[in-house]
Amino acid sequence: MPLYSEAATKSPYWNEYLETMPRDKLDQLHLRRLQAMIKYAYENAPMYRDLYDRAGVKPEDVKTLDDYIDKIPTIDKSDVVAYQAKNPPFGDAIVRGGEEYVNIFYMTSGSTGKPMMEPGYFKDIHQQWTYKWWAHGIRQNDVFYFAFPFGTFMGFWSAYFDALMMGCQVISSGGQDSKGRIRQILELKPTVLCATPTYILHLAEVARDMGVNPAETSIKFLTMAGEQGAVVASLRKAMEEAWGARALDLYGISELWGSTSWHCPMHLDRLHLSETVAYGVVLDEDGRKVPSGGRGEFVLTTYNATVMPLIKYRTHDVVEWHLEGCDCGRSWLWLREGVLGRTDQMVTIKGTNVYPAGLQAILGEIPQLSENMEIHFTTEADGDAVTVKVEPIGNVSQENYPQLQQQVAEELHRKVGVRIGVELVPPKSLPRYEQKAKRIFDNRKK
Ligand SMILES: [Zn+2]
Repeated sequence: MPLYSEAATKSPYWNEYLETMPRDKLDQLHLRRLQAMIKYAYENAPMYRDLYDRAGVKPEDVKTLDDYIDKIPTIDKSDVVAYQAKNPPFGDAIVRGGEEYVNIFYMTSGSTGKPMMEPGYFKDIHQQWTYKWWAHGIRQNDVFYFAFPFGTFMGFWSAYFDALMMGCQVISSGGQDSKGRIRQILELKPTVLCATPTYILHLAEVARDMGVNPAETSIKFLTMAGEQGAVVASLRKAMEEAWGARALDLYGISELWGSTSWHCPMHLDRLHLSETVAYGVVLDEDGRKVPSGGRGEFVLTTYNATVMPLIKYRTHDVVEWHLEGCDCGRSWLWLREGVLGRTDQMVTIKGTNVYPAGLQAILGEIPQLSENMEIHFTTEADGDAVTVKVEPIGNVSQENYPQLQQQVAEELHRKVGVRIGVELVPPKSLPRYEQKAKRIFDNRKK
């Protein structure tokens, strides 16, 4: 007996009813779910009772989505970490009795401070990736290859469970080296490669060094997380050409249980928010809603986190959002070009706001540079400064380095409007990462 009917297999939607629901109905559904979530958190999690009492708001005060935006306080990773510290390990952020349901446990990487504990219930992380994979044509007969060392970083755990749930075969490559992984891909013939964008490109380099053309392997799809990837046109082109495969990106937050937004199958510069798993709104610096088409900070409530609810959670990611629907048929809101920057990684140079993500996109368009780069923030006598470290690709001869360095500096100056320092380092000298790549080094004096 097949897992899916013929009609379901042919449909581009995993859940057509919800993916194409008109905006007004979708918003009614959100309101009911938000009201339930807020009531549940207030009654069961000491952190929310404390925060909402201090803000003078009760769950029944939320009668409209505007009430949610205007009255409910936002929370931040630092709030959760502070409430966890009061009563470790999970503290007052978890619902009473929630410990009994905790059967999965992750931690944030701690790259921006003390790690946040992420206790959860197995069912919390279901079906986040499935919408995207289905929209792009991945079906139950596909075979996933996870080129990723599983650990306490949420990373691809949710993808692993979702692939299993779709009925696919999954192969975990464990702690093998890259050559071992290429040999295993040749032997087991998986069709979907799951890794970070940097590692997908690195693995292609390793394959070519072994005399294997990655574009001639069984891989048909590249699915990624951990850093901005295929939603950036230059990176998508590099990955797709290297592997002769379709590259699918997503935007996810590990605290919110993984993949929340994903690549539209028709417009590859758009990421749709899975509005079944989260409610998203874009707010300005004063916490006011930004109109559709505008830019601001993405603030999310996840419906999935039942053990440790996260309500009106600040992502610090700057996005441009659109609510007008999409011609792929989905009513779900979409973000243009994914994350445009981080509110906490912005540098102001001579009055101009500079975001690392913007610099990465500009550098990605310069064909003589590899995809690996580092961005360093420092404090100089006249204020904040930024220097990028970039690598030429192998076929740029050394005598052309000074000219290339000047070209990169001019390109950045022209597009950003302020001077950015450029340091050219030898090919393949910057570190490659299997997990989240470290690209931004903030050494500013606080
Ligand atoms: Zn779309």
